[in-house]
Amino acid sequence: MFDQEKLEESMVVHAGASPMRVRQMRIESSGVISVLLERAAVASWTPGAHVDMHLGSTTVRQYPLCGDPEDKTSYRVAVLHQTTGRGGSRYVHEKLRPGDLVSVSQPRNNFELLPAQRYVFTAEVG
Ligand SMILES: Cc1cc2nc3c(=O)[nH]c(=O)nc-3n(C[C@H](O)[C@H](O)[C@H](O)COP(=O)(O)OP(=O)(O)OC[C@H]3O[C@@H](n4cnc5c(N)ncnc54)[C@H](O)[C@@H]3O)c2cc1C
Repeated sequence: MFDQEKLEESMVVHAGASPMRVRQMRIESSGVISVLLERAAVASWTPGAHVDMHLGSTTVRQYPLCGDPEDKTSYRVAVLHQTTGRGGSRYVHEKLRPGDLVSVSQPRNNFELLPAQRYVFTAEVG
């Protein structure tokens, strides 16, 4: 467990966001790494929720949470390495490292799963 106050003093915190420490980065598949972000306590979330991550001084990118909603001290996101983008995913893959601090928003859910008798799962590769 770390000192959240010291963590907040040690970096610029963006409006509506607070700092999280990168605890682990794990290769999930070709070009995809997951990032485990931790702080003393995290807001609860439901499947479909995403956070805004401030990557460098001007870049903000959205990543859905894909960890365990019962984990009250960390969030996990998975990021594809997109070399032709404006730099958000390159920052994660090439600069971000375990121990670094990232400013992360509260989760919000624009894609909440509603109770239903059946669900249709679709996936896209591209
Ligand atoms: C709700 C939501 C959920 C998301 N979930 C994920 C996720 O789970 N994992 C993940 O890796 N990413 C996810 N993303 C995308 C993510 O937020 C970033 O956009 C991604 O990491 C790439 O960031 P970037 O700055 O490297 O590239 P960006 O600049 O954001 O570019 C993304 C793609 O668009 C193309 N592009 C950029 N500008 C142009 C242009 N002018 N003309 C044509 N093509 C262009 C790039 O070639 C690149 O392939 C999500 C986004 C949203 C909004």
